[in-house]
Amino acid sequence: MRTVTYVSNNTVEIVDKPIPEIEPDEVLVKIAGAGLCHSDLHLIAMGDDNPLIGGTLGHEGAGYVHEVGSAVTTWKVGDPVLVALVLSCGECRECLAGRDSQCLVASPRGALAPAAPGIGTPGNMAEYIAVKSHHLDPLDGLDPVDAAPLADAALTPMHAINTVRDRLTGDATVVVIGIGGLGHMGLQIIAATSGSRIIAVDTDPAKLAYAESHGAIAVPSGPDAAARILEETDGRGADVVIDFVGVQPTVDLSVAVIAQGGAIRFVGLGGGGFEYVAGIVEMPWGVNIERPYGGNRSDQREALALAKAGKIHVDVTHYPLDDAKRAFEDLHHGSIQGRIVLVP
Ligand SMILES: [Zn+2]
Ligand SMILES: [Zn+2]
Repeated sequence: MRTVTYVSNNTVEIVDKPIPEIEPDEVLVKIAGAGLCHSDLHLIAMGDDNPLIGGTLGHEGAGYVHEVGSAVTTWKVGDPVLVALVLSCGECRECLAGRDSQCLVASPRGALAPAAPGIGTPGNMAEYIAVKSHHLDPLDGLDPVDAAPLADAALTPMHAINTVRDRLTGDATVVVIGIGGLGHMGLQIIAATSGSRIIAVDTDPAKLAYAESHGAIAVPSGPDAAARILEETDGRGADVVIDFVGVQPTVDLSVAVIAQGGAIRFVGLGGGGFEYVAGIVEMPWGVNIERPYGGNRSDQREALALAKAGKIHVDVTHYPLDDAKRAFEDLHHGSIQGRIVLVP
């Protein structure tokens, strides 16, 4: 089968590999669509001695059940399914507490990232993937090609938003930074599940126009952004900031506009940072900061319910799987609205 394989630093190729054999508790999924994420660009840019070299990429995938293992009773051939992002065990302390994105088996302390398709195990950018039957969610009513990005682009914002759910009151202001793959879903999830006011920040006028069309106040990135946001909030700052980019200017902006007692969620992995000083400093009192990863299966089911109800919609651009190299380049150059989906 054809796969998108990470062959050397910043380089992917279409590589032919055998169709995986399934274990009794596994399902073979025929991939209909595989999302391409900014994290994929980060993963393949970590040097020529990266242990992930040689692996099939793709942590967002959906398709149809093609074959079921002898012990599988929950799925039948032809079912449309979404492949989970975090390959959680379902049985450890964190999984049992509903914090399965922190699964102790999939994500032991110090791991670069929790075990996920395309990140240490074979990914979804292929014609087939073999997964444990409990790592699938039903997609009935959704087209698996366009639903594939829900595995990360909806899951991850859904989780970050659920960690600040109690702050999303009708009189709250939420700043969403970066209206790309994850941000455009985050914006829709906040709009669909809260009455909070949304301020969207991006460098791209087309992405700001998209945000405005979803009811957000658009603020262009730049030296005036912090002042604009403070003005919009009568000097108080934003109750919640979700930074889907994570480069230095967006981290600086997050810290500059957070309200006293507000919450920042750093989702984007752009390498920006700030120095934390335990003292009398400029950061307002009571600020809560979290570095969320992916999401729990409960977040995934909630995002799927919103998509099935038509309340959120992934904006997708299709590329043939064979054009993966071009897709990676186009994403790198930032010319994509929403999400690229590779179609085998
Ligand atoms: Zn991702
Ligand atoms: Zn677990």
